[in-house]
Amino acid sequence: MARWSELDAWDGPWIDVFVLMWEAYVAGTIPVGAVLTDETGRVAARGRNRIFDEPADGELVGSRLAHAEVNALLALSPERTYEDWTLWSALEPCHLCLSAAFTARVGHVSFACSDAYGGAVGRLLPSRDHAAHPLRIDGPLEGVPGVLPELLLIAHYLWRRPEGDVVRFYAERRPNLIEAAKELPAPTDGAGLPEVYAAVRARGLEPPRSVSPTGT
Ligand SMILES: [Zn+2]
Repeated sequence: MARWSELDAWDGPWIDVFVLMWEAYVAGTIPVGAVLTDETGRVAARGRNRIFDEPADGELVGSRLAHAEVNALLALSPERTYEDWTLWSALEPCHLCLSAAFTARVGHVSFACSDAYGGAVGRLLPSRDHAAHPLRIDGPLEGVPGVLPELLLIAHYLWRRPEGDVVRFYAERRPNLIEAAKELPAPTDGAGLPEVYAAVRARGLEPPRSVSPTGT
C-alpha cells in the first residue's frame, strides 16, 4: 500500500481512484478517476475522464460524455443489476454520472471530494425509475483526499481555460481554492502524485464543512 497518502485509512479502492485521477490530469484532461467494485469488494472495472484524449478503443473518448464514472460503468452488462456494487469516484459525480449509475443499476456511489461547480448530489430531480432503484451515496472524505481532487479540477481549468466559467466560479466563490490550485504543477510539468499530495497536505486545507454527504 502506498505510504505517500492516508488513502488506505478509508475502506475502498481509493488509491486506484486517485492514481486514475492523476493519470487523467497529466494526460491534459479533466482529473477524475473512478473504480467499480463488486459485492465482495473486488475491483471489477476502472475508468478515467477521457474528454480531451485522442481516440482509442474500449472507453468513451474525445466526447463531452467521456466522464470517468461513465467509462467505468461501460463494463457493466445489461443482463443483470448491481445493487451490491459500488462506484467510487475521486470527485462528486455530476448529473450525467449520477444518472448513469442509476441507469446501470449500481446500488452505491462513494466520492472522495465535493465538486462545488459540477457536483449533482442532492440536486438530481428523481424520476419514478430512480425511486424504484435507490442509490446510496456517501462522501466526501476528510483531509487531503477530500480537497485534492477539487484543487486538481481547478488547476486543470487554470491551465486549459483560465478565462472560463469554472475558474470564474471559483474566483468568486472559493478564492482560497484558486490560490491553492495556482501552486500545483501544471499537467505538463512532469510532477508525481505523491509530491502533489504532500504539498496539499502541507498547506493544511480542509474540505468545506457545509457539504451534505448523502441524498440524490
Ligand atoms: Zn460526470
